[in-house]
Amino acid sequence: MQEEKQTNITDHLLDVFNYSFVETMPYGFFWTKDARYMPVNLVDKRYHCPKCQQEFTVKYHHTGVTYFSKTRMAAQRQIYAELGLDFPAEDAIAAEQPFHYEAIGYCQACADQEVRQSPEFGQRIYNLCEKLHQADELLAAKARRLMDQAVERWLTGITKSEQLLQYDLSSHEALRDLICAIILEDGEPFEAVLKEYSGEAMALAEEIRALNAKAPETWTAYTARSTALYESMADDLYHEYTVVFPEAGQQARSFYVQHIIERDRVEMFLQQPRITTLEELFMDAGFHEEWIDAVVDKGLSLQE
Ligand SMILES: [Zn+2]
Repeated sequence: MQEEKQTNITDHLLDVFNYSFVETMPYGFFWTKDARYMPVNLVDKRYHCPKCQQEFTVKYHHTGVTYFSKTRMAAQRQIYAELGLDFPAEDAIAAEQPFHYEAIGYCQACADQEVRQSPEFGQRIYNLCEKLHQADELLAAKARRLMDQAVERWLTGITKSEQLLQYDLSSHEALRDLICAIILEDGEPFEAVLKEYSGEAMALAEEIRALNAKAPETWTAYTARSTALYESMADDLYHEYTVVFPEAGQQARSFYVQHIIERDRVEMFLQQPRITTLEELFMDAGFHEEWIDAVVDKGLSLQE
């Protein structure tokens, strides 16, 4: 439990999951005069779910023009046509008129019915990877909650200042050591969640591995993408000039879009180290300063 987390397995797993299934472009050098790209005054992204007809808009943080690859622009032209929208004239885009980025896919509710139950081979592989990813994230969240509860339980048992004074509270360091010891002593619930996770993660990994062994090199499936995530408007790279960020403060939702999945990246996601020991679990959750504040507050309330 260190503040400077040496190995944060969960964050690393999230990065690899995103690299494998969400934003798959590597960082690349970019030259604005490159004829394969064009500057666009991109203002927002409009999401359309054809199943329930729901539409919603996410505003982009505006910092000037965003560079689109021409292939991405050609794909946008097709999506506009599919939606029955008029595509802006070339000179309007060149004159930096506001441009709306359109996306067709499933909203979360429709994806729950259509995508996540799909028996289709390639979709199933992704669905299982998504499940494994959710299990990875849930373990970290559960560990954090259990740590909060362990500190809370211990503090509830302290009703007199003498009880606190038997501990070394002389420094920040001493308080940290004390809190770590309290959490470690309360290990049983952590073992239970870790055991549950390990069983689920192992079973999922085994199922994915067996399917992936029979998969082609690449295939297309619907993958979830948070509407709060940045996005590159180039197909083969990301760079400050090609990336857009949603404005802060907008509701984040999952939206399912068609995505090319690579067998090697599925394998890479499976091969990452996952949490197997209590020590890793504690290290991963990290130390939280709020616990020190809670102990100090308790001490102060008992002095009154
Ligand atoms: Zn829908």
